Amino acid sequence: MSFATSLRAIILGAPGAGKGTVLSKLSRQYQNQLTTVSSGDLLREQIKHNPSSEIASVVASGRLVPNNLMIDMIFNRFDQLDLFSQDKSWLLDGFPRNVNQAIDLDSRLLHMNNSLNLVIELDVPYEVILNRIKNRYIHQPSGRIYSLDYNPPKVPGKDDVTGEPLTKRPDDNVEVFAQRLELYTELVEPLKDYYADRDLLHTISGDSSDIIYPQLLKLVEKKFNTPLEQ
Ligand code: AMP
Repeated sequence: MSFATSLRAIILGAPGAGKGTVLSKLSRQYQNQLTTVSSGDLLREQIKHNPSSEIASVVASGRLVPNNLMIDMIFNRFDQLDLFSQDKSWLLDGFPRNVNQAIDLDSRLLHMNNSLNLVIELDVPYEVILNRIKNRYIHQPSGRIYSLDYNPPKVPGKDDVTGEPLTKRPDDNVEVFAQRLELYTELVEPLKDYYADRDLLHTISGDSSDIIYPQLLKLVEKKFNTPLEQ
């Protein structure tokens, strides 16, 4: 499938809402036409290189890294991948997290004669998220994610590909996770208002990615897709 109009989107959703899962499905659907940039992944990449940095301790504690640092990191990645060009389709995951970041993103896009054209909110009940996090394990070197519920490793506690041990993300423990959820809830409402005022906000509700993904695909296809035969 191909895009008739470039998609310039952000996805909002509580930590553990399944943004990564649905976005990797969407990227597969649109193969090399859609680039996803995740602020959390960018930070984890940096932390891998410098595990004792200030950023590592902020992320491990569930707080937000300072806006200026985060904004530079996102814009640098956009420049590297040439995503500010008119013809590029992209989806931002985890950024912006607050209205100040949203304003900076808008003004940078405007400067490039561009603007966002879709904001998607994933609305998943908190009980579902908390249960999911309890069961989430990762293979740290590759970023592969396992769930004891619906995607368990073939051998308990071991990565399917390398056989190396699985671990928990340092910010996935119960106390830190509760704090991340609380912070998300506090900051997302003003952000939703900001985008709803621009008529960009679409909310998709559901308990699992099997329910959410088809709705997401339909929304994107309706707004941006040209069937190949056209
Ligand atoms: P995520 O993978 O999106 O849940 O992000 C993991 C952690 O990275 C968050 O709990 C924050 O500490 C940090 N982080 C991610 N995105 C941002 C952002 N846009 N602004 C500030 N901190 C962020």
